[in-house]
Amino acid sequence: MATISIREAQRTILEKITPLDPEKVSLFHGLNRVTPDEHVAPWDIPPSDNSAMDGYAFSHDTLIGNRLRVNGFLPAGEIRTIPVSPGEAIRIMTGAPIPPACDTVLPMEEVEVEGDYIRLPASVRAGSHVRKRGEDIRQGNVVIDAGTLLRPQEIGMLSAMGITSLAVHRKVRIAILATGDELLEPGSTPAPGKIINSNSYTLAAQVLDAGGDPVLLGIAPDTLDATCAKIRAGLTADFMVITGGVSVGERDYVKMAIEKLGGTITFWKVDMKPGKPLAFALLDGKPVFALPGNPAAAMVSFELFVRPALLKAMGQRRVFRPVVKATLREPVVNKGSRPHLVRGIVSAENDRYHVFTTGNQSSGRLSSLIQGNGLIIVAPETSLPVGAEAEVMLLDRTFEMGRLDIPSLKV
Ligand code: AMP
Ligand code: MG
Repeated sequence: MATISIREAQRTILEKITPLDPEKVSLFHGLNRVTPDEHVAPWDIPPSDNSAMDGYAFSHDTLIGNRLRVNGFLPAGEIRTIPVSPGEAIRIMTGAPIPPACDTVLPMEEVEVEGDYIRLPASVRAGSHVRKRGEDIRQGNVVIDAGTLLRPQEIGMLSAMGITSLAVHRKVRIAILATGDELLEPGSTPAPGKIINSNSYTLAAQVLDAGGDPVLLGIAPDTLDATCAKIRAGLTADFMVITGGVSVGERDYVKMAIEKLGGTITFWKVDMKPGKPLAFALLDGKPVFALPGNPAAAMVSFELFVRPALLKAMGQRRVFRPVVKATLREPVVNKGSRPHLVRGIVSAENDRYHVFTTGNQSSGRLSSLIQGNGLIIVAPETSLPVGAEAEVMLLDRTFEMGRLDIPSLKV
């Protein structure tokens, strides 16, 4: 069996993934989803020249002297069709369309009011404080490209374009299967020889966090028939993730079951620690990931291989977690021949990332991930001293936590 690099495994998996069909959702449900369509502005935004200030609008062109008679009031939401005569101004509110024959606005605080008249300052710039029609967005322009991940600002922009529902790539439904005679579902106290199936819940939460839709298949006991039956039941989903039963032990039936059901299996040893055995298969055309059973290895393998595939299937283009440079706050040694993904605790202080390890790195220890929020990438046969810079993959944004003060912005 070939041993391949993390990158090679990721590339091979992602090559097989194509975005799922779109579905129509209401605008709000488009948040954090990807639209497959280009969105073109149906009209100019703003739709007309309008006032940027509460003040007075007039024609700069026909200005004689610096006194104007105030004739009329125009609040936002109304229009005035009668032109404002030379020698006159109209009181106008922010957002109100500039009336015909006007080209300039002066804010209230820049004029002196004298009864029905206003006195203008010595110099007035033509066209000031007017927001021009279409200066934000021009009718016919592509405002949102196909393949855009929709954030609050895109949702707001789409609403300004009159959109109330739109197509987005469907959420991936992922069936999650735990395997092992030793497993019990949560809700019971472990009997002798038994442990609780925590992987299914970690993975389901990882799926939710990535925007997918988990479907729990429960636990398959360690027999070929039971494993086949559970896998078959999961084929209604788009993807499947299985933990445990994927090594070379006597009771490891996952690969055998996938093959018996007609799946084409690619089984690798991935050059990494934690994790190593990873089976990837297409079964009925659906991606199936068989991950190691050890909790930390399962979680890290999901991060590296399943999450990017899931995001790609939901139309995302940026599918990898950010990798940043961080200063080591304790030495890290990798004596082995595989790259080591050391669970670390990252914090952002004084414009830099700092990182500690979570201590004991045994892949069975779920607790090492509870404290951790990043993976320190340590090359084989490498020892890094305190203060050295290391690459860290950020798994979430808790590195920002513990910061109770208001960050000092430069403005
Ligand atoms: P396996 O890959 O099936 O040999 O499993 C390796 C080890 O991972 C087992 O001995 C269990 O301790 C642990 N394990 C497997 N599946 C789970 C699970 N669903 N939840 C928690 N621990 C598990
Ligand atoms: Mg097992």
